[in-house]
Amino acid sequence: MRVLVLGGTTEARQLYAALEQCVDRFKVTVSLAGATRAPVLPRLDVRIGGFGGVDGLHAWLVAHHVEAVIDATHPFAVQMSNHAVAACAQAHVKLLRVQRPGWTPVAGDRWTRVRDMQAAADALGSTPRRVLLTVGRKDLLPFHHAGPHDWLLRCVDAPDPTLLPAGTRLLLARGPFDEAGEEALLRRERIDVIVTKNSGGTATQAKLAAARRLGLGVIMVERPPVAQAKTVADATAAMMWLESLSE
Ligand code: NAP
Repeated sequence: MRVLVLGGTTEARQLYAALEQCVDRFKVTVSLAGATRAPVLPRLDVRIGGFGGVDGLHAWLVAHHVEAVIDATHPFAVQMSNHAVAACAQAHVKLLRVQRPGWTPVAGDRWTRVRDMQAAADALGSTPRRVLLTVGRKDLLPFHHAGPHDWLLRCVDAPDPTLLPAGTRLLLARGPFDEAGEEALLRRERIDVIVTKNSGGTATQAKLAAARRLGLGVIMVERPPVAQAKTVADATAAMMWLESLSE
């Protein structure tokens, strides 16, 4: 069976590991956006870069006789997910989304839940604060016009400096992170508040527990809406779906 996996997440990497064991049954191509400079590559066929919108993806599915698509992109990569829904419908290709559940607050959390980055920037207010930004490097514009805060941006690759709010300090790091390390970072940097996307999963969750322990606020940007698709929570369930198609 010819399968296309749209990747870029921990769940996608778990899925590649399982698919590497069944190359006799599934002919898999993994697709990456090309956003990360040194991506973790599977021992499977890999293509890198956009398809050229819905039409480009549709053409690729037809040309490569794809029978199933697994969209294991990040919960905030909604454009790619929306394109997958549209292109698979047009090409009559089966589609499954792998999406980890979002984080939910527990007792002791001091979260402000907001709908987008602009609302996150607004929620910081005008009193100077020491902010740990863990929102990636693409959506920083709203923070340029936020209050006179001290910014520490943690991301995997260094962004174009012109995209950074003035005076931003960079911390280049790739998860997973643990709670002791996160607490040490928050203390060392005297962070008052964390701004994060509600990515879910365990790789970057420790900062939430560390913030809880230190009584710090978290501004949580909730997931954007996305087109409906059949969805499972992890790579194991995705493998079961694939097996059921091939029976
Ligand atoms: P996006 O806004 O939904 O997608 C923008 C465009 O990038 C898409 O229209 C598509 O271009 C291309 N693209 C995205 N994912 C692709 C993939 N796996 N293979 C081929 N092309 C892809 O996506 P994004 O938020 O920029 O995320 C890019 C990648 O980073 C995704 O693979 C995602 O899983 C990963 N990622 C994103 C985040 C996040 O917070 N957004 C966090 C961690 C990892 P065309 O229209 O030309 O096909």
